[in-house]
Amino acid sequence: MAGGAVTRFAPSPTGLLHLGHAFSALVSAGKAGPGRFLLRIEDIDRERCKPEFETAIFEDLGWLGLSWRQPVMRQSDRMAVYRDALSYLGDLGVTYPCSCTRGDIRAALSAPQEGAPLHGPDGLIYPGCCRGRPMRDLREGDVIRLDAGRAFDLIRDNMLSFRDGRVHVLSREAFLTGIGDVILARRGMGTSYHLSVVLDDAAQGITLVTRGMDLFESSWIHVLLQRLLDLDTPEYHHHRLIRDQDGKRLAKRDDARSLRALRQDGASPAEIRAMLGLPATG
Ligand code: GLU
Repeated sequence: MAGGAVTRFAPSPTGLLHLGHAFSALVSAGKAGPGRFLLRIEDIDRERCKPEFETAIFEDLGWLGLSWRQPVMRQSDRMAVYRDALSYLGDLGVTYPCSCTRGDIRAALSAPQEGAPLHGPDGLIYPGCCRGRPMRDLREGDVIRLDAGRAFDLIRDNMLSFRDGRVHVLSREAFLTGIGDVILARRGMGTSYHLSVVLDDAAQGITLVTRGMDLFESSWIHVLLQRLLDLDTPEYHHHRLIRDQDGKRLAKRDDARSLRALRQDGASPAEIRAMLGLPATG
C-alpha cells in the first residue's frame, strides 16, 4: 500500500510498561510507514487505570526513541461510540443481556459435553443460560453478550479469516465451541476490550494490527465484530511473547522488569533493543 502500513500500540495505563510492551511497541512502530505509527490509550477500566501510568507510557515510549502521530486516541473519550455500536448490534438481534455470575457459569458447566473445550480466550466458555433474553430485559448489573450463533447466521458465512503472514481461517463450529458468546459490555463499563478495540482500530484507519500471540484467539472475535459492523478486517501480526528466565510471560506486576526500573539501573534504549533480540535501529 502506498505510504506503508498504519500501525498502533494500544497500552492500558494500569501499570508501568515492561519489556514485553517495549517489544510490542518497537515491532509495531518498525512495521509502520513514515508518520503512520499511532498510539491509543486503552483506559475503559476506570478502576484500574491511573493518570500517572499514562504519563509514564508517554515518557517511556519517548525514551525508547519512538514518536507517534498526534492526537493520541483515548478510549474514555469514546464511550458514546461504543454505546451506539452496542445499540446497533442490539437492533441486529445479535446481543442479549446476561446476569450469570462466574459461579452460575461454573455450575452450568459442571456436566460439560464430552470433548468440548472449557476455556476460550476470555476464560470459561459461556454455556448460554441467558441466551434468548431480549435486550429490553437489560437490568442493572447485567453484562451484554454476543449471540455468536445468530451473528454467524446474519453474516451468512460459516467461516472467518484474517491474514497474518498467511491466511488463517476459523469455522463457525470452531468459534461456537472454542470461543462462544463473549461479553461485549462488561458490568459498569458500558463496553469491553473486544468491542472498543474493533471500533478504535477502524476509526484510526489501522491497516496492520500488531499484538502479542496471547491475543491470537481474541482476533477471531474482532473479525466477527468487523463483519457485523461492516468494517474492514486489517492484517494482523501476532508477535512472539517476551518471557522471563523461567519462561513465564512478563506481567505488569513484575516491577523489576519495568522500563522505568531498567532505565534507572542505567540501561540505554540500545541495550533494551538488544535484550529483546531486535536489530540496533529500525
Ligand atoms: N490494551 C491491550 C493490552 O494492553 C491492547 C491489546 C491489543 O493490541 O489489541 O493488552
